[in-house]
Amino acid sequence: MEKKVFLSEKDMPRAWYNIQADLPHPLPPPLNPATGEPITPDMLEAIFPMNLIEQEMSLSRSIPIPDEVLEQLLLWRPTPMYRATALEKRLGTPARIYYKNEGVSPAGSHKPNTSVAQAYYNKEAGIKRLTTETGAGQWGSALAFACNRFGLEIKVYMVRVSFDQKPYRRMMMETWGGTCVPSPSPDTSAGRGFLEADPDHSGSLGIAISEAIEDAVTSENTKYSLGSVLNHVLLHQSVIGLEARKQLESIGEYPDIIIGCAGGGSNFAGIAFPFIRDKIHGKDIRVIASEPTSCPTLTRGHYVYDFGDTAKTTPLLPMYSIGHGFIPAPIHAGGLRYHGMAPLVSRVFTDGLIEAKAYNQLETFAAGIAFARTEGFIPAPETNHAIACAIEEAKRAKEEGKERVILMNFSGHGIIDLPSYDAYLSGKLQDHVMPDEEIEKLLKELDEYPKPK
Ligand SMILES: *Cc1c(COP(=O)(O)O)cnc(C)c1O
Repeated sequence: MEKKVFLSEKDMPRAWYNIQADLPHPLPPPLNPATGEPITPDMLEAIFPMNLIEQEMSLSRSIPIPDEVLEQLLLWRPTPMYRATALEKRLGTPARIYYKNEGVSPAGSHKPNTSVAQAYYNKEAGIKRLTTETGAGQWGSALAFACNRFGLEIKVYMVRVSFDQKPYRRMMMETWGGTCVPSPSPDTSAGRGFLEADPDHSGSLGIAISEAIEDAVTSENTKYSLGSVLNHVLLHQSVIGLEARKQLESIGEYPDIIIGCAGGGSNFAGIAFPFIRDKIHGKDIRVIASEPTSCPTLTRGHYVYDFGDTAKTTPLLPMYSIGHGFIPAPIHAGGLRYHGMAPLVSRVFTDGLIEAKAYNQLETFAAGIAFARTEGFIPAPETNHAIACAIEEAKRAKEEGKERVILMNFSGHGIIDLPSYDAYLSGKLQDHVMPDEEIEKLLKELDEYPKPK
């Protein structure tokens, strides 16, 4: 038995997998909130280049990865797959646990899988500069890395409180040549409005999105870029599952259970969708999305048309949501604090192709510590949600005496999130469970809009 399974560079997938071609029920279209009508591609052109809009709407099963993108992905891909032998031993489980290590990318997470593709397509479309928002900085740093590879300028609007408290990812962005400012900033009219009301405004993701979009719409040769939720982002992440399938095949394995943590849904979709294709065609597997109890989008949200952002600037998206007005509790898994779930992940959830489970913050850190003390790698706080779920399933396999194969996505390492481990180890972390009344109240605001079918 080997600890790691590598894939050679020549076996790197040459095309992305688009689950839209295999869905039992097609994706409902995004709607224009003013008219209730489906949006047309040209309405997105102010913020995205047409080549990415085409990908967003494509129904082709397989979309070739351009050579220039492949060349960048090959910097760290194919990523290694590990068998979690030490964790299995600690748990005394008959299950075999495999994890795909996406923490080996330059930015330390799965996010560069899409940022390099997005930077490439923008460059192809003649764009010179990208804007985006970032919370804790994972997406901002991944996009700064990608813009460096393709010679694009980048400006990242980073939520002020994170900018002040979590400087290391800003330093990464600047090291790769990007510009990062605290949001609200004096650089946009949206930002100036918030600063006038409160010069010490701590910011929010919603405000940062408004600033990044305003900048893109009002600047020359500039577009906006998003790190999760959208169909083209999930498409780019499919390399994770495509590689994992080949790696398992090479050692004669096939998973019984596939697990990923889910914020906007991109890394979960990345590992899961190529296997969900098999499930649609009859394979008997379980696929589980793991989320925080403080942001229980799939486990307690509703399938609605909702805005992608707090400021209601986006089209209405058909998704599981707890409401765009959601203000997240300050949990450390910053990447999992999004109010909605990717339309494609929401769709397969309504069709019963995936399950969802929510975990409390303390349980996820206990899982992360168990992982670090057995497998060695220190996981990102987001990744700890997938590990908590994998541990639960490995224990169940033990109770039932079943030799199950569990595949999990290790979405990123936690070296830049070490203060969160410090807080956990010194007893300063708490659980934040979202009350039902709050979800009902937030969703009530959406009553005036249609419901997706
Ligand atoms: C951003 C992030 C996530 C959550 O985003 P998804 O789009 O749901 O994948 C999970 N893990 C890590 C390490 C992240 O950086």
